[in-house]
Amino acid sequence: MMATTSRKSWWIGIGLAAAVVVALYQYFDVGRLLTLDNLNASRDALVGAYQARPLLTLLSFFGVYVVATALSIPGALILTLAAGAMFGLGVGLLVVSFASSLGALLAFLVSRYLLRDWVQARFGPSLAPINDGIRRDGVFYLLTLRLVPVFPFWLINLLMGLTPIGAGRFYAVSQLGMLAGTVVYVNAGTQLAALQSPRDILSPALLGSFVLLGVFPLLAKAMVRWLQRRKVYAKWPRPKAFDRNLVVIGAGAGGLVAAYIAAAVKAKVTLIEGHRMGGDCLNSGCVPSKALIRSAKLAKELHGAARFGVRDAAGRVDFAAVMRRVHGVIRDIEPHDSVERYTRLGVEVLQGHARITTPWSVEVTLADGSKRVLTTRSLVIAAGAHPFVPPIPGLAETGLLTSDTVWGLTELPKRLLVLGGGPIGCELAQSFARLGAQVTQVEMAPRVMLREDPEVSALVADSLRADGVELLTGHQAVRVDSIDGVKRLVVKHGTSEILLEFDQILCAVGRSPRVTGYGLEELGIPLTPRKTIETNAYLQTRFPNIYAVGDVAGPFQLTHAAAHQAWYAAVNALFGRFKRFKADYSVIPWTTFTDPEVARVGLSETEATEQGTPFEVTRYGIDDLDRAIADGTAQGFVKILTVPGKDKILGVTIVGEHAGDLLAEYVLAMKHGLGLNKILGTIHTYPTLSEANKYAAGEWKRAHAPQQLLRWVGRYHAWERA
Ligand SMILES: Cc1cc2nc3c(=O)[nH]c(=O)nc-3n(C[C@H](O)[C@H](O)[C@H](O)COP(=O)(O)OP(=O)(O)OC[C@H]3O[C@@H](n4cnc5c(N)ncnc54)[C@H](O)[C@@H]3O)c2cc1C
Repeated sequence: MMATTSRKSWWIGIGLAAAVVVALYQYFDVGRLLTLDNLNASRDALVGAYQARPLLTLLSFFGVYVVATALSIPGALILTLAAGAMFGLGVGLLVVSFASSLGALLAFLVSRYLLRDWVQARFGPSLAPINDGIRRDGVFYLLTLRLVPVFPFWLINLLMGLTPIGAGRFYAVSQLGMLAGTVVYVNAGTQLAALQSPRDILSPALLGSFVLLGVFPLLAKAMVRWLQRRKVYAKWPRPKAFDRNLVVIGAGAGGLVAAYIAAAVKAKVTLIEGHRMGGDCLNSGCVPSKALIRSAKLAKELHGAARFGVRDAAGRVDFAAVMRRVHGVIRDIEPHDSVERYTRLGVEVLQGHARITTPWSVEVTLADGSKRVLTTRSLVIAAGAHPFVPPIPGLAETGLLTSDTVWGLTELPKRLLVLGGGPIGCELAQSFARLGAQVTQVEMAPRVMLREDPEVSALVADSLRADGVELLTGHQAVRVDSIDGVKRLVVKHGTSEILLEFDQILCAVGRSPRVTGYGLEELGIPLTPRKTIETNAYLQTRFPNIYAVGDVAGPFQLTHAAAHQAWYAAVNALFGRFKRFKADYSVIPWTTFTDPEVARVGLSETEATEQGTPFEVTRYGIDDLDRAIADGTAQGFVKILTVPGKDKILGVTIVGEHAGDLLAEYVLAMKHGLGLNKILGTIHTYPTLSEANKYAAGEWKRAHAPQQLLRWVGRYHAWERA
């Protein structure tokens, strides 16, 4: 911290010194001296000086050149001509090439250390695409700018200093890129007497050549990409024609939407599902878990019915009936994702296991064992994820439940051990506790819901404990054993080991993308370090005609994120030759359906602090909300992060009853650039929970009231009363 501050003051010192030199330059009108006429007039004196004291003249010239370019003082052109006139082409080129690159680097560094943090903090989100572009292709852009000597040299130095390009790279590319222009100008300097004006140096033909030279890196880049693409496909024979425009693997949230979009725009599309239509969300994820949460919540309410003046509501749980309802809910929703519905929509649905055999063909093993090979112009992989089971000794042998298998229970486990304190672990631990199980939840991290702010974790932890969950954070599962039929999990906490007995253990420690057994390895489709399929911003894999979406691609494991990506993948796959769209993740909301719910969009306070994004926090306590008090759900808060001094929303976290629904207003606001003033100016029905959003906006307004003006308004009223 100290080092950063002193380095900053150092750069501020340099900046101030530079400002003084520039002021002196302006005051003495040095620019007037740096003209072609003056140079011509002084040519003999300069050459004489070089002949009399070659080293001193060279070094002095070098120094002046570096300072002039570092301070972005106009006149580099005349100095370059002077180098040619004084030193000749060879030495002149050497001196100018190094002096101009060094000066450029200094200007770049001054801009970087004085302005970049401020510029990035102020315009950070809107600069993100530029930063990405520079990180990816900055060298090519810089080379083009340097090769065409019409782009102002000093401006390039200062602007590049604001971007993420590395200083070493900037120096090297600048020196290389400026070489051609430097040769031309230094050479012109050797013919100084023949020059009437600097315009004589750059004839239209020469300028044209520079432009061609400048376009060259971009053409080279396009060529490299084309060659890379050819290389990727080289060993795969491309069919002459394709049976289909699109084949989609997996009929979960991502695959269903991709197939739907393709059919809607009249493409020939085949959707292949190896297990159950609807994927995880319908069969073992969102739908059953929310159905279970509903029963658990009712049980909890009935237990507390006396608080509402309702007597004799025992709320005895019939767990088998609860699970029957869960499966009933799945059945009720099934038609939305069914083969019949998608066939009606124009999608060919095949039920079988898909394996990608070439970048354009998929082999499907149908239920009866027969095989079909489909050729397709594009492919969308939406193969989802499966529960991750950690290699804890004894765990697999003792038997365990996961989010895939827990729905098969017909009897409530007496003692349930839940491994994992993420959203799935918390939702299920709370539900089972409310339904009457004795639940112990073990989390290795110091708190549950690690992705959210600590105060959110604390609130969720309190509510889990209030529901009877024995919550053990900071406890690491070491091994599982079974002695005389008693199953035990050994956990480590600090230096001590604790034994936790259980009847069933539910493993909810994360979900691994499904990336094996269907051709990715054979095609050499790379994975990310998080073991998701590696895709670019257009959701293309290494093969540009193969896309990946949803849990298998990440970075989110959410139904609506999979569906969102599916739109991009389908549109890019079908129309990419005309226009491609980068997947936009700027406003992705999510909710954890614990009670109270936790909903978030955009930045949390922790993330904003870690990223160094300046923010203000506005809070509104839901314990103060009329409707929540009436409902007996007066707990939680709305926390909004805004740009300092502005009503622009950076992120929102809501903890409370129906937080997921309340969040929608902020998602809309962020997506369409509406600030808190707009939310405050919108009528919200009284008494509803949604008023929490308006009151939160009101808190922001109160904190930003123009106090000075209000003092005057107060005086005005006093004057009116007098
Ligand atoms: C308990 C739980 C609760 C959840 N709650 C929520 C929630 O409340 N909100 C939310 O947004 N998300 C929730 N999720 C996450 C959500 O379910 C997933 O993010 C979502 O289902 C991902 O969709 P997908 O299309 O990527 O994959 P999936 O839905 O997993 O679909 C992939 C499909 O591909 C098929 N498949 C794979 N390989 C092949 C092959 N080779 N051939 C043929 N078919 C293949 C699979 O059989 C599967 O049906 C929850 C998840 C769990 C486990």
